Amino acid sequence: MRIIRYEGDGAARWGVLGPDDTVYAAEGEPWGGAGPRQGPAVARLDEVRLLAPVMPSKIVCVGRNYADHAAELGNPVPKEPLIFLKPPSSIIGPGADVVYPELSGRLDPEAELVAVIGRAGRRIAAEDAMSMVAGYTCGNDVTARDLQKSDPQWTRGKGFDTFCPLGPWVDTGFDPADVRVTCAVDGEIRQDGRTKDFIFDIPTLIAFVTAFARLEPGDVIMTGTPAGVGPVQVGNTITVAVEGLGELTNRVVADR
Ligand code: ZN
Repeated sequence: MRIIRYEGDGAARWGVLGPDDTVYAAEGEPWGGAGPRQGPAVARLDEVRLLAPVMPSKIVCVGRNYADHAAELGNPVPKEPLIFLKPPSSIIGPGADVVYPELSGRLDPEAELVAVIGRAGRRIAAEDAMSMVAGYTCGNDVTARDLQKSDPQWTRGKGFDTFCPLGPWVDTGFDPADVRVTCAVDGEIRQDGRTKDFIFDIPTLIAFVTAFARLEPGDVIMTGTPAGVGPVQVGNTITVAVEGLGELTNRVVADR
């Protein structure tokens, strides 16, 4: 099932996307219970404006989770997951604009597979972790690389408004084991990796995170980015694609 959030009659609504691009109303909670039920048809996909398909209390990110990306930035491969948080206020949906901050001179997109948590959990063993995942979406861990390097903490470098595009939907039947993750800028592929090359797999990440913090339904784990990161400019269009899952496209605009 593909779960979406969209704007309808001026309000944000949950929906279910059918295989023929029909949007159905979603009945029931999207996460944390039995999952939403498909209600009546309400629109066609091209008639609605999609919003980010999840509203997490926490965006947990993993740095250097592909060896080739760690190497390109001159970093060693970590011995345990290197995690950080992005604020929920940084989330935007498919098609929304990424604002290039006036405070930065180097903006990099990062294409990432994103796991969406379906039930609450604390101290979850890796063997039990996959049952916590409701589904997957695409994410862009937009980074002000200069501030990430100059600040002792990554909060500014990773946390500006609009620095977390998510979408276009959450696919509850998706198998993330070995899929291609790419980032294209104005149609030219720059980042290109496969999830089988994760240093830490999703169960390991969930066990690591829940050892210190409770994950809530709707929380997301961004699983890191493959090699090929580089700067974008105002006017560029960024497309994150996860094979078999979907594409997430956002344009870069000036800060004003
Ligand atoms: Zn990242």
